[in-house]
Amino acid sequence: MNKHVQLPGLIAGPCSAETRDQVLETARALAPAFSRTQNAYFRASLWKPRTRPGDFEGVGEIGLSWLSDVKDECGLAVATEVAHPRHVDLALNHGVDLLWVGARTTASPFLVQELADALKGVDIAVAVKNPMHADLMLWAGAVERLEGAGLQKIIGVHRGFSVHGQDKYRNPPMWQLAIDFKDLFPDLPLYCDPSHITGRSTAVAGVSQKAMDLGFDGLMIESHVEPDKAWTDAAQQVTPAALDHLLSELIFRSVQGGGGRSEAHVDELENMRAELDLLDEHLIGLLARRMEISGEIGAYKRDRKMLILQTERWNQILNDHVGRAVEEGLDRSFITSLYKMIHQASIGIQSREMSVRSVEKEN
Ligand code: PEP
Ligand code: MN
Repeated sequence: MNKHVQLPGLIAGPCSAETRDQVLETARALAPAFSRTQNAYFRASLWKPRTRPGDFEGVGEIGLSWLSDVKDECGLAVATEVAHPRHVDLALNHGVDLLWVGARTTASPFLVQELADALKGVDIAVAVKNPMHADLMLWAGAVERLEGAGLQKIIGVHRGFSVHGQDKYRNPPMWQLAIDFKDLFPDLPLYCDPSHITGRSTAVAGVSQKAMDLGFDGLMIESHVEPDKAWTDAAQQVTPAALDHLLSELIFRSVQGGGGRSEAHVDELENMRAELDLLDEHLIGLLARRMEISGEIGAYKRDRKMLILQTERWNQILNDHVGRAVEEGLDRSFITSLYKMIHQASIGIQSREMSVRSVEKEN
């Protein structure tokens, strides 16, 4: 990640292909947005795996000729979702350039294996969306099955994760999972799909910028000539003009920063990093000492037959420390999670202390 200083890859187009006119008009209107990158694909889903029966499930096979028309007329590479080996065969026969595995399919290893088998020996780009729920290994497994089929052009797509109940976003991004995916597959391009993350057209720009700031390699964004009238995902689609504007406003950063680095900048950055390193060393030392004392407390409690978990004391720690940390300007949910982790580790050490000593006694 982080190697580009201009717009990296872009996969854009409507959630679903609805009519030939809608597909062609959208593709034509996307020309300015696509001209911002060397690496563009026009997307439109023909087969839609819907959560409930009775919803629009895509136009199917007929839409393949519309995608061929987009290729011929606009000179664009085209992309569609495949959820079944039959879709793969049809798409390959119609010259589709990129196939993607949707979030619902990634969650199904048998299906992914069938797709991989259908793609064996084919030289085509395949994008793999993360599964609906936050399971990194399921995402990784789908990539590995495709790698096993010999595919060389695999792209990861981070589209957020479904959660129960209300959230600011339709599928909260849980960025750490995307970062962990990048650690597992450092050589695969990783795209972000802010449309399915946010579920709201007005929030797409912010998440796109965040993805760029994190060094993602591309964006997959839903765009429709008349979003309000879209047959699927109407709330999150942007017009082609809005997409072009959004892209024009993006700031691209790189490891070095834009415009070269002056000596002064290098010194300033290095000084700040050195200070962070010192603070981290200090933090680690403090944590180690804290855990040592936890062990001593474990021994003390064991000798006096006291309970390890003393809820009142824990609540007091949490209240006092979180309150103080918030006064210092730290985020409440961050400090609460941090303290919960510290407390859990501390309880683990205390329990270990008890069992180690009791084994010693038995000997
Ligand atoms: C889509 O891209 O239109 C789609 C259905 O996405 P996902 O599989 O991420 O839900
Ligand atoms: Mn969609």
